[in-house]
Amino acid sequence: MKSMSSAEIRQMFLDFFESKDHLVVPSKSLIPEDDPTLLWINSGVATLKKYFDGSVVPPKHRITNAQKAIRTNDIENVGKTARHHTLFEMMGNFSIGDYFKAEVIPWAWELLTSPEWYGLDKEKLYVTVYPKDRETKELWQNKTDLPDGHIYEVEDNFWDIGEGPSGPDSEIFYDRGEDFMDIPADDPEMYPGGENERYLEIWNIVFSQFNHLPGLTDNSQYPELPHKNIDTGMGLERVVSVFQNGRTNFDTDLFLPIIAATEKLADGYHYSQKEDTEENVSFKVIADHIRAVSFAISDGALPSNEGRGYVIRRLLRRAVLHGQKLGIKGNFLSSLVPVVAEIMESYYPELKANTARIQKTVDAEEKRFNKTLKAGLAMLNDVIKAAKDADEKQISGADAFKLSDTYGFPLELTQEQAADAGLTVDTEGYQVALEEQRQRARNARGTDNGMGVQNAVLTDLKVDSDYVGWNQTDVQGAKVVAIISEDDEGIDSLVEEAQADDTVQVVFDKTPFYAEMGGQVADQGEIRDEKGQLLGKVTDVQNGPNGQHIHTVLVTENFRLEDVVDLQVDLERHTNVSRNHTATHMLDQALRNVIGGDIHQAGSLVEPDYLRFDFTHEGPVSKGVLKQVETMINGEIAKNLPVTWEEMPIEQAKELGAVAVFDNKYGDTVRVVSIGDFNRELDGGTHVARTSELGVFKITNESGIGAGVRRIEALTSLPALAAFEDEGESLQAAADLLKVPKPLDLPKRVEELLAEAKQRQAELDSLQAQLANLSAAKIFDQVETLNGHTAVLAQIKVANANGLRQMADTWKQEKPSDLLVLAAVINDKVNLLVAANKAANEAGIKAGDLIKTIAPAIGGGGGGRPDMAQAGGKNPAGIDQALEDAKSYIKGK
Ligand code: ATP
Ligand code: MG
Repeated sequence: MKSMSSAEIRQMFLDFFESKDHLVVPSKSLIPEDDPTLLWINSGVATLKKYFDGSVVPPKHRITNAQKAIRTNDIENVGKTARHHTLFEMMGNFSIGDYFKAEVIPWAWELLTSPEWYGLDKEKLYVTVYPKDRETKELWQNKTDLPDGHIYEVEDNFWDIGEGPSGPDSEIFYDRGEDFMDIPADDPEMYPGGENERYLEIWNIVFSQFNHLPGLTDNSQYPELPHKNIDTGMGLERVVSVFQNGRTNFDTDLFLPIIAATEKLADGYHYSQKEDTEENVSFKVIADHIRAVSFAISDGALPSNEGRGYVIRRLLRRAVLHGQKLGIKGNFLSSLVPVVAEIMESYYPELKANTARIQKTVDAEEKRFNKTLKAGLAMLNDVIKAAKDADEKQISGADAFKLSDTYGFPLELTQEQAADAGLTVDTEGYQVALEEQRQRARNARGTDNGMGVQNAVLTDLKVDSDYVGWNQTDVQGAKVVAIISEDDEGIDSLVEEAQADDTVQVVFDKTPFYAEMGGQVADQGEIRDEKGQLLGKVTDVQNGPNGQHIHTVLVTENFRLEDVVDLQVDLERHTNVSRNHTATHMLDQALRNVIGGDIHQAGSLVEPDYLRFDFTHEGPVSKGVLKQVETMINGEIAKNLPVTWEEMPIEQAKELGAVAVFDNKYGDTVRVVSIGDFNRELDGGTHVARTSELGVFKITNESGIGAGVRRIEALTSLPALAAFEDEGESLQAAADLLKVPKPLDLPKRVEELLAEAKQRQAELDSLQAQLANLSAAKIFDQVETLNGHTAVLAQIKVANANGLRQMADTWKQEKPSDLLVLAAVINDKVNLLVAANKAANEAGIKAGDLIKTIAPAIGGGGGGRPDMAQAGGKNPAGIDQALEDAKSYIKGK
């Protein structure tokens, strides 16, 4: 086997495909450009999507790259398998409507086995093909000298992500030999492509051959694409492990220096290249994660609680925890950043350039985490111990939430630590706690509200109080049994009398006021004496720790303990809330009927003017499904179903199929609410008597509120009607503007307008191209000679950046000079473009360097390749200066 460094292996891949007439493009940022569907660049082809879908014409139809990629879905595998990382490099060659199978397979074989290139042992290589893809199999058989019996047909080898391009693929494996038999030889997984450590997948060649049309399910019916593409991906770290004879990807020059640096910090723990030890996992996780974190921060991501930032935070925290397992004291991660930068310098110089910034960010985040970690770990260990002592298999959602909320443990981290102890975590309960927390945060905006902090008075309060609001919204002759008032220092105590203008908390022996619970907001209303005189307004009601309803009352007339009063709930508000609560149950049911059983409620909010329902579901709920749900609910409303409830033992409720939404919240006797035969649920809220009271139901919004949790907002009754009317009005307004007789004709008219706009754009593009040619002729006449270099420097007028690039294309064809420096003002901003030919490059003038020198004059920055670079800036006044700077720079060379 050749002895090669990772840098040499990477370079050889690129050189090989360059020799096959491919354009070598540099690695792009990990942060996808203009692609909201992707959190991270996760493959080589991900950065070339625009070329593959035809929205941008590629500079060349054969491209090769080595691309940094992050795959968070492989995070659990890191350190456990030999071959998975979060950040890894994928080398690939791409055909955009150019060559196809007959070329790529012999090339792949040549690169892998030719003594001039990788020169791997042919006996060690295996490939898989898709069974129906005879062509690929025959090419491997006839156009390469792959040994007999080294081709496996694998049903999985078909790449299909739904509508759009799809096709078979062919994977290449390296046999690492019998020493890597982690499962018995006769295990069905022991083949190239199975779940084993012996046959290492190093390369995947994807043939984008078919068009998966909507409605088709059988891939043999997919029509062929008119322009077929190829994309391939070879995992650099895996190939390096082959060449460097490492037991795992980590036993290579890409990782060993990081591991060595970590070993110096570890307290007596060592990494073994000979066997798998528990410490090895920690060394590997740290090495992997610090690479991913360094690259991600270098590319502009920052730790936070969302999206990419959350990934960084999670990786960093995992690394810190593994550092603790190795006995590392104090902050250590930032000291590994320069090691990573050093290893990657030849191909990713940006890491070195950004080292100080990356270290600062890593250090700050590590400090933040360490502060809370100590307390958190202690709590987690207590929780785990308590669960084990009680012989439980699960950590409660509330505990998991407290860990994340107070101690900064991401849920996944708690899950992992729990899993180590053989426990799971109640993630549904976690979501509920999270939602409650959000609700508290919202409430906290007002005055002191809710029962966030329970005080001793309420805890000790033992008076009886009945809730009678299921069937009535007023009570005559309720007795005041407790009044709680706050003194100047904010300390609560029981008092004899409620004073006018004070806000106090009151308990009655019986009450019709609903206390906030299960997402349903509290009732509001009035307290009057027997003569009808107003005594106070109830603004909020909460459940006390001993179950009494605690009314927050704004007092208007003094009243005393033992006084007998009349209680009146605000009926309109109560009715609106009840409508929305019944609607919430109907929404839950309709979603389950339409989508299927595996959705779970993850929280809800029932307000007088709208309702909100959160549930588990991967990805957005389609418009079609939402429509079906809405129609189904309106159908059930029209049936005027009775809404009834009864109390029964929990066992009986289960038999009836009442859905237990949050099981553990209920005692042995439960309340079951039925909406005709449509829905039956355990519930503690108030409802309408018949579904027709809802009037009409309308969904107003569907959105994601976290991983795998969706939220639907909806309206009933008059607010729903108003929303329908608003929509109708704006459609009518649009119809008037577009001068179509009625809203129903709108789509057709809009289609026509869009087609017209498209045609105009095409005309505009073509005019602009002509204009560019004309002005190019003039501009290219003005060649200056600067210290022996010929250059065209000019400010030009173009409509957009494309116009600038068209000028550069013309310049390339006509070759009026060695250098081209153009500036243009586009929408009040400045765009610069610099191009340089070979002669200029050889004289040491690179477009990328030149633009870096002159961009500051226009208040911007930029960069690019030696032959072409672009920059943007905010200062049009600096254009002359930039052009002058360019001249001095060229003269100086
Ligand atoms: P695996 O089954 O091993 O996870 P994959 O099928 O997910 O691999 P592809 O999506 O085909 O891999 O990616 C192409 C190549 O990228 C693979 O052949 C492999 O060499 C490499 N690769 C994929 N995922 C990782 C990873 N997490 N870490 C390192 N290399 C990877
Ligand atoms: Mg994978």
